[in-house]
Amino acid sequence: MFNSLSDRLTATFKNLRGKGRLTEADVDGTVREIRRALLDADVAVPVVREFTAHVKERALSEEVSQALNPGQQVVKIVNDELVRILGGETRRINLAKNPPTVIMLAGLQGAGKTTLAGKLAKWLKGQGHTPLLVACDLQRPNAVKQLQVNGERAGVPVYAPHPGVSSEFEAPTGDPVVVARNGVSEARQKQHDIVIVDTAGRLGVDADMMQQAADIRAAINPHEVLFVIDAMIGQDAVNTAQAFNDGVNFTGVVLSKLDGDARGGAALSVASITGKPVMFASTGENLDDFEVFHPDRMASRILD
Ligand code: GDP
Repeated sequence: MFNSLSDRLTATFKNLRGKGRLTEADVDGTVREIRRALLDADVAVPVVREFTAHVKERALSEEVSQALNPGQQVVKIVNDELVRILGGETRRINLAKNPPTVIMLAGLQGAGKTTLAGKLAKWLKGQGHTPLLVACDLQRPNAVKQLQVNGERAGVPVYAPHPGVSSEFEAPTGDPVVVARNGVSEARQKQHDIVIVDTAGRLGVDADMMQQAADIRAAINPHEVLFVIDAMIGQDAVNTAQAFNDGVNFTGVVLSKLDGDARGGAALSVASITGKPVMFASTGENLDDFEVFHPDRMASRILD
């Protein structure tokens, strides 16, 4: 992910190397190259516009620090802007004062929610928490079973509507809102300090699905709503994110499939467009392929 963007930006900065001072023409040329690189990487147009305007303004107005040459100064500005569009500071999970902390997952079908649920549960367990997974994706025939398998791998219990009844061909019956509410009660009763609620997605944004997600949100009043987005989906990412932001007012973003070779710019745009921070990254199919997302480290990786 981001390889091509990374190469393009690095090449742009190379042209500035050795320059004693930057003229307005140098800055214009550089900003033009940055704009092209971002657009070619699928970064959303409004994000590119704001990004390049900031870079230009700062490159022309800032005092060049003693320690940096002008080229390095531009790299630093671009780095700062990347950190900014990715949400700024690393954002930790908002833990409830009175447990359980309720975390709801939302996103399209195939985004990686059920996989993420297992990863998050394993990671939290490793930190001494006692999570419970709740299977509310009653849409996709195999989702409950898949969550049960992930739970078993993570060593984390799963609350499911009718354990074991789902098969590859048949979705379990039940009302996901009731399952979500009962799952949270179960967590409270059995003293789990965190409960992770997996919900159903559809292949595209759909009014019924969004209503269901909104109903689940209203029923369980989660401390975090994580919107899981497949970083491979390209330009659609922005519209999808906006629809989910309007529908369930999520609190954080999880970028999944960051191990893929998509251009990645759409995923870069999601935090900026929605104003919600990227909190985690999913980087493969195994439960350990999971990272806390640090905007500054991601920016350095892109500019490396
Ligand atoms: P859901 O419908 O949102 O619950 O999506 P799933 O968790 O079932 O994931 C859909 C597919 O993507 C599955 O085949 C997963 O194994 C795969 N997947 C999920 N996360 C990742 C990831 O970070 N990287 C890769 N390469 N595959 C992933």
